[in-house]
Parts: sequence; C-alpha cells; structure tokens
Amino acid sequence: MNDAFVRQVQQVFSAQSPLSKVIPGFQSRIEQQQMAEQIALAISNQEQIIIEAGTGTGKTFAYLIPLLLSHRKAIISTGTKNLQEQLFLRDLPLVAKALSTTCKIALLKGRANYLCWRRLNRCQQEGLFLSKETAQELTLVAAWSKTTKTGETSDLSHLPEEASVWSHVTSNSDACLGANCDHYDRCFLAKARQKAQAADILVVNHHLLMADLVLKDQGFGELLPNVGAVIFDEAHQLPETAANFFGETLSAKQITELARDIKREYMVSARDMKSLSTLADSLEKSALDFRLAFGTEQTLRGTWEDIRSSEKIQKALAQLSFTFNQARSWLEIARTRSAELENCHRRANTLADKLKTLTEKNEAQDVIQWFETFKRHFTLNATPLNIAQHFMKYMSHYNCPWVFTSATIATHQNDFQYFSKQMGLTAAKSLKLASPFNFQKQALLYLPKNMPDPTAREYTRIITETMIPILQYSRGRAFFLFTSFRALYEAEQILKSAIQYPLLVQGEQPKTKLLEQFRALGNAVLLGTSSFWEGVDIRGEALSCVIIDKLPFASPGDPIMKARLNHIRQRGGEPFYEYQLPQAVISLKQGLGRLIRDQNDTGVLVICDPRLQTRSYGKVFLSSLPKMRCTQYPEDIKKFFTPIS
Ligand code: SF4
Repeated sequence: MNDAFVRQVQQVFSAQSPLSKVIPGFQSRIEQQQMAEQIALAISNQEQIIIEAGTGTGKTFAYLIPLLLSHRKAIISTGTKNLQEQLFLRDLPLVAKALSTTCKIALLKGRANYLCWRRLNRCQQEGLFLSKETAQELTLVAAWSKTTKTGETSDLSHLPEEASVWSHVTSNSDACLGANCDHYDRCFLAKARQKAQAADILVVNHHLLMADLVLKDQGFGELLPNVGAVIFDEAHQLPETAANFFGETLSAKQITELARDIKREYMVSARDMKSLSTLADSLEKSALDFRLAFGTEQTLRGTWEDIRSSEKIQKALAQLSFTFNQARSWLEIARTRSAELENCHRRANTLADKLKTLTEKNEAQDVIQWFETFKRHFTLNATPLNIAQHFMKYMSHYNCPWVFTSATIATHQNDFQYFSKQMGLTAAKSLKLASPFNFQKQALLYLPKNMPDPTAREYTRIITETMIPILQYSRGRAFFLFTSFRALYEAEQILKSAIQYPLLVQGEQPKTKLLEQFRALGNAVLLGTSSFWEGVDIRGEALSCVIIDKLPFASPGDPIMKARLNHIRQRGGEPFYEYQLPQAVISLKQGLGRLIRDQNDTGVLVICDPRLQTRSYGKVFLSSLPKMRCTQYPEDIKKFFTPIS
C-alpha cells in the first residue's frame, strides 16, 4: 500500500499533473513534492510528522493531495480565519476537482460566529442596551435574521466584526441550552455542527478543535467521530492555544451574565421567589467588589501567589464564595421551574467550583494561577506548566496519522525540539523544507552599525532616527515593528514630522482596516507591535521593508513568563536556551515571513538590535534565517531600492 500510494501522489506532481488542468501555469516544486510524499507515508503508516515548510513551498497542496487521495475522513485545523476560508472556498474545491474526487467539505467556525435565536429573542424582548448605537445594530441583525441561511455573522457584511451587538446575540457556551433549547430545530450552530459531522473533510480552527478535544463544548457531540487523519496548519500556534484549553478561566463577565439570567428568570418563571432577585444583585455586587479589591489600576496582570495573602482580596473572595454557595442552594430549589433556571444552576455550580480551584493553593504545582484585571472586569486563570501530557492523552484517543506543519516551527539547525517537547510529540518524525524563493537575490538583511544597547534610555530615539533615511530609500512601503507600545509611540512622535509618507499606527483603527489602507496607499509606513508579526499577507511592492526594533524576546517581567521560567530552572533546565531563545527565533522568522511572499517580491529586513552581532546567541538567530546578503551600510539599501535604468 505504501509504495503504491506514494507513487499515486508522485504522479499528481508529474509533468502531466492533473493540477495544471485546473490551475493554469501550475508548476510543482521539489520541496512541495517531498512534503506530499512524506505526508503520504505518514498517512499509510499512521504516524505523526512535523514539517516546517518555508514560505512559498505550497504546503497547502502538499497535504491536500495525499489527504484527498487517501479518502480518509479528516480534520484540518488552522490558526487563522483567513487560511480557514482560503482552504474551504478555494484550495479544497480546486484540488478535489483536479483529482476528480468527490468529497463532502465543511467549514465550522467558533460559536461566537453564529447567531443564537434564543439570545436574539431575549434582546428584542428586553431591549436592555447601553447605547442607542447597539439598539440600531440590533434592528439590522433582526432584519437579517429573517433572510440568512447560515446565521454566520460574516454574512451581514455591512455590520463590522467588532460591532457591540454581536456579543449580545451570538452563541455562547455558558448560556446555550443545546438539545433542550426551544429553538434547537432551527439553531444555526446545531445545523453547522450536523453538517460538520457528516463531512469527509472538516476545516476548523485550533480553538474549536481544542475545545472539542477537551470536551469543553458539550451539548452538540464530538466534531468528527471516526476521524482518519488530523492536520494542523500554522501549527506553531498550537502550544499557546492548547495551554489555554487545558487550563481553566473564570471571568467577571461570566458571573454578571449569570446574575442577569437569574434575574430575568425570576421575572419570567419564578416571580414568587424574591430571593432569586436578591441573589442576582449580590452576585453582581460581589463580582464588582472582588474586582475593586485588586485596586484602581485599569489593567494589571500577576500571579495569584503574589496577592493571595492580601487582606482585601481575601475578604472579597470570601464574600464572592459565600454568594456562590447561596446561589447553589437557591438554584437547587428553583431549577425545576424552567430549562433556563436549570442552566443557571449548572453554571453556578461550575463557576463556584472554578473559583475554588483557581484560588486554592495548587499543591501539585503543575499550573500557574494568575489574574488579569480590566476597567470593570477580571479573569482568574490556571495555565498548565506542562501541556505535553494533556495533549498526548487526547491524541491517544484517536489512532490516526497526525500532521503538524507551519512555515516557522523549527529553530536553528533543523531543531524541532522546542515544539515537539511542548506538545509531547517525542515519536514524531520531522522534516524541514527550505523556501524555494531566492533570498540571496530577493532580500537584503541590514544590521545597522553602532546601535546602543537595547536597555539604553535613548535606544528607541536613536534607532528611529537611524531609520529615517532607510524609509526615504524604501519610499515608505515599510512595517516598523516594535516589541512594546511605549517604543511604538515614541517612534511615532519622531516619525510624524520626519517623513513625508503616510504613517499608520496600530490602535488608531482595527487591524483589518489598517492593512486595507496600507495596501491601498502603496507608500505607507505602518507602526505595529506583536499582532503584525504574523498572519499578515501583503504581496508586492506595498511592503518592501520590514524593520524590527529589538529581538522579539517575550518580556521576562510578565508574571506568567516568570513562573514558566522558574519552573524550568527548578527542574534543572536552562530557561533561556530551552524557552526564551527558541520562542524569539520563531517570532523573528515570522517577522521576516511578512516581507517575501512570492518569487517576485523583494525587500529589506532591518534588525536594529545590536545583540544579534555582539552576543553569542546572535548566531542562533542568524542561522535560522534563510541565507541572504547582509550589510551594515545604508548605501547598500539605497542601491537596493534604486531602480535599474
Ligand atoms: S441551541 Fe444554543 S445556540 Fe442554538 S439557539 Fe439555542 S441557545 Fe442558541
């Protein structure tokens, strides 16, 4: 079977490739073919494989072809919505057509992307809205609900993703009644999940798949029973997503929503139980008092250990726990009155248990307990220190091939350990495929001379001023990426009067709008932080220069990072080499990935941080980048951008 199957896959990449019939000018690349063959083998042998395929390898086709030829039921999970849609709308139908194979394809999004009839009805009945604007949005949603076939929020294209009405009318796992809901027969989410379960190939995102694996999205059944293969694209994002799902979170919003639902049900189905209304008020007040106990700072992040002994926190926590106990007792009595009260009872129990777990001493020391506060809200969290054991346990339930691929998953010298150790993939094979782009010709790496140490007070000012002539040479068309907002704002102040090109600044508009503008302007300079380091696809000349202020080490001052590093130290490991360095290497590779998107793209990558040249670990970063010319002289940048006459 192995040989025959691999040969079948090879034929698709031959000179008479069926792909060239549906994709004019299709040319397979050797790296793409290699990747497809390895995936075919992994599928035949039921193996796990990790593949780094540099930008431009054509990795999507490289996994779709063996997958479709294997005729297995499969899940493809991606990190971003863009890739999900590209797979579902374009690549999968195209490859299926080329291979003349018929298979049922489905795309399933997260709950929050579907209109919930029950929540919509409630909003309409109660009209409990904070602003006029949200009420107007509700009118739009109500009209659209009568015509939409899928209930997907993206269907209502003239209402932006961030419109506040969506958080009131889309599905939410706490409040969903599942099969007990009166609207279940026409529920958009239920229909989408039924379609998903009947599919041969299901496209999802990492969040959804993780939620399903750990059964945190119960009420609708498993996503794909009898799955025959699982493929994770953009797999470098998995460790972070998995850590969130294998942990626990409790948010103030969950408590306030529970309180509001109890109050509503008191009015509708239990008018004789006045104590329910009092209980709802106490829950809301206790949650707010708990938030205030953290102080008046708007945003704060820290470990629970740091504040556990605070008297204020302990007092507010005791009050919140007491109120939850009351809620359990009262709802135990009221639960028979309606399905909604039954749901409130279940939620009160779950939230009370979570509150206990998240604030009790973690004797096993296997999780980081931490908190985060916002203006009026808070979250309490527990993130496991070791996700490998959890992930392996879930993987063992599915005896099938698992493929993990990304353009940035290995660190230097083909080292996959950073990823494989975190995910527990000790038995997985690995393969690194270089990008087929000619980086020597297409790109230039500029490491400016005489930059101060990144800890120097003047650092941002000096590097920004050094970049002014570079931005002139590149005629704008640049991303200037920072590791902190403080540095970004400082650079903005300097650049706004120093360059004649449009300056776009993260935070001024939603990210998608900024990117649209960047593309349309064609000569803009965009100042951004970590969210622009990945998942941004700007082809062609609009983006010709990527400037990176500092090597992207995650802040060691962040309490979660601190706890993680301590944990590695305690078990005798070396946190810098085991965790901080590989993480920064992958981020830097992501940053470079923004620059060269196809074989016609050219551009300059500037890394201002002198540690790349002065510290021994600088070599690790340099050796993990594709081979390209390197200069320390700005004149070379001028030459690079001067059109040859
Ligand atoms: S089943 Fe859940 S998502 Fe569907 S309409 Fe009912 S509450 Fe909303």
